[in-house]
Amino acid sequence: MIPAAPVRDVDYQALEFAYRPCADQRAPRPAHHPVVVVGAGPIGLALAIDLAQRGTPVVVFDDDSKLSTGSRAICFSKRTLEILDRLGCGQRLVDKGVSWSRGRVFFRGEALYGFDLLPEVGHCRPAFVNLQQYYAEGYLVERAAELPAIDLRWKNKVVGVERRDSHVEVGIETPDGPYRVTADWLVACDGARSPVRAMLGLETQGRVFRDRFLIADIRTRAELLPGGASERWFWFDPAFHPNQSVLLHRQPDDVWRVDFQLGWDVDPAEERKPERVIPRVRAFLDASPARGAEFTLEWASVYTFACMRMARFRHGRVLFAGDAAHGVSPFGARGANSGIQDAENLAWKLVRVLRGTSAPALLDSYADEREFAADENIRASTRSTDFITPKSDVSRLFRDAVLGLAKEHAFARRLVNSGRLSVPATLRGSALNTPDVDAFVGEMEPGAVAADAPLARGGEHTWLLHALGPDFTLLVFAPEPPAWAEGGEASVVCIVPRGTRAASGAFEDVEGLAAARYDARPGTVYLLRPDQHVCARWRAPDAAGVRAALARATGDAVRPA
Ligand SMILES: Cc1cc2nc3c(=O)[nH]c(=O)nc-3n(C[C@H](O)[C@H](O)[C@H](O)COP(=O)(O)OP(=O)(O)OC[C@H]3O[C@@H](n4cnc5c(N)ncnc54)[C@H](O)[C@@H]3O)c2cc1C
Repeated sequence: MIPAAPVRDVDYQALEFAYRPCADQRAPRPAHHPVVVVGAGPIGLALAIDLAQRGTPVVVFDDDSKLSTGSRAICFSKRTLEILDRLGCGQRLVDKGVSWSRGRVFFRGEALYGFDLLPEVGHCRPAFVNLQQYYAEGYLVERAAELPAIDLRWKNKVVGVERRDSHVEVGIETPDGPYRVTADWLVACDGARSPVRAMLGLETQGRVFRDRFLIADIRTRAELLPGGASERWFWFDPAFHPNQSVLLHRQPDDVWRVDFQLGWDVDPAEERKPERVIPRVRAFLDASPARGAEFTLEWASVYTFACMRMARFRHGRVLFAGDAAHGVSPFGARGANSGIQDAENLAWKLVRVLRGTSAPALLDSYADEREFAADENIRASTRSTDFITPKSDVSRLFRDAVLGLAKEHAFARRLVNSGRLSVPATLRGSALNTPDVDAFVGEMEPGAVAADAPLARGGEHTWLLHALGPDFTLLVFAPEPPAWAEGGEASVVCIVPRGTRAASGAFEDVEGLAAARYDARPGTVYLLRPDQHVCARWRAPDAAGVRAALARATGDAVRPA
C-alpha cells in the first residue's frame, strides 16, 4: 500500500490508497464537519477541491481504495478542462491526453461527412481531450492531497445517513469498525447506484435502452487513422460489423477505444469473453489501415445504457451530484462532464451558505439549474441513442434514408445523430439571472458559460477565463474600472482594444475576439458568477443596477422549494 501523497508517472490503475485511522473514530461523541462528500470519483473530488480552494474544510469518504477500474470515461470536454484549470489540474489532462475536435461519419463503407466541434480559433482549451478516467481521477487525487482543507478517507464506507433539521448524521464503516460524524451538509457523489439515495428511500427514474454495447480498449503500436489523425470516427452498418454501429476514439499510451453495438438479444457474459471480443476487434482492424496489426486487449465490458434522473437534487441538507443524481448513455460524453459542472455550480453556493452570506435557499438554485441541465443532457442523449438504436423497422428505414442522403445533402446531415457531444447548458431560465434591459447579440446571454478569448497584459499572453477572479467578476470593456465598482463584492477585469492606453491592470483584447464574443462596445459590463456563468450585462450600468444583480445572483430571488 502507498499513502495518498502526490505521485508522478505511476500506474494509476494499480494505485492503492492507504486506509488511515482518524481522530473522529476515537472521539467520545460524533465529530462535526461543515461538509461531507460521499464518493471520491471525479465529481466528489472536483467538488472537494473547489470547496477547499474557497477555504471550506471538507471530509470525503470513499468505500474503495482504488481509482476507477477500467477506463470508463475517456472524453473530457472543453468546459471540464476550463473548470479543471480553475481547480489546478487542467493542464495535466491536456498534456497527457489526446486533444481533438474533428470527426467523421461513415455509412456502409462510404464516408458521409466530417465535422469540427470547435472550428473557431482563440480558445485556450480544445473541444475535447481523450484520456482514461483513471488518469483524470489520479490527477484530482494528487491535487486534493495538496490542499490541507481536504480530509480524504479511503476505505470509509458510508452505511447510514439520517437527515435532521439542523444537520445530517452519518454512519461509517471502516476496517477498524464503525463510527459516526455529523455535518451541516452532505453531498452524495456516490455514483449511479448511490447507496445514499437508497438510504434515504429516494429514487431515480427514466428509461433503459434495449441495446447492448461492447466497449473494448485495445493497445496497438499500429496507426488506425490515416495520417495519424486524432479524430472521432463513427460507422453506421459497416461491413466488418454489419447491421450495427462502431465508434473509434484514440487515447494516450497507444490505446484505442472501440465501441461495438451488439443489439439486445446477446448474452453480455458471453460477449465480454476474450474469445468473443478478439474476433470482433480483428475484423475491425483488418478493415482499417492497420490490417494484420498486433494488439492486446486492455479492457472490455458490455453495457446497457439508461437515461435517468432523480426528481430533485436537493433534499434538505443532502444534495446529489454526478451519476448519483443523473445518468445518460455515453454517446455524447455527458456523464463525467455534466457531473463536474454540477460540482462547480454547487461549490460556491455551499460556501456562501456556510459563511452566512446567502440563505440556504440559494442551494435550491443548484437543484433547479442542474436539473434543467440534466434534462437537456437526457434529451440529447436519448435522441442520439434513438438514432443509433432505431426502435422499429420504420425508424430504421427513416434512419437509413437519412444516412443515404447525408453525403450529398446538408439538410440530411443535420438529422444524422451519432452522439452529439457534450456542451454546457445555458441556464436561461435561472432565477439568479438578471434579464437584459439593453440589446445584445451573440451567445453570451445571462445563464451562458463565459466564452474564452486571448488577452495580453504587459506583453504577457493570457486567456480571458484565466483572468477571472475566484468569486464574482465584473468584465468591464473600458480602460479603467468605473468609480461605482470600487469596494464592491465583485472583482473587476478591464478589457481594452489592442494598443489602447489603459490603466496598468487592464487586459488588451489582442485579436478583438473578446469584444466580438461578448458583443461589447466601450462601457459594456458583464457580471460573471464564481462558476464563470454570465448572470447580468449592461451597456452602461450604475451602482444600484449592479448591486441588485449581485443580490439576485446570490439568492435574493430564489424561492425555497
Ligand atoms: C463505458 C463508459 C464510458 C463513459 N464515457 C464517458 C465519457 O467519455 N465522458 C464522460 O463525461 N463520461 C463518460 N462516462 C460516465 C462517467 O464514467 C461517469 O459519469 C463518472 O464516473 C461519474 O462520476 P461520479 O463521481 O458521479 O461517480 P463514480 O465515478 O461512480 O464514483 C462514485 C464513488 O463513490 C464511491 N462510493 C460508492 N458508494 C459509497 C459509499 N457507500 N461510501 C463511500 N463511498 C462510496 C465509489 O467507490 C466511487 O469512488 C462513461 C461511463 C462508462 C461506463
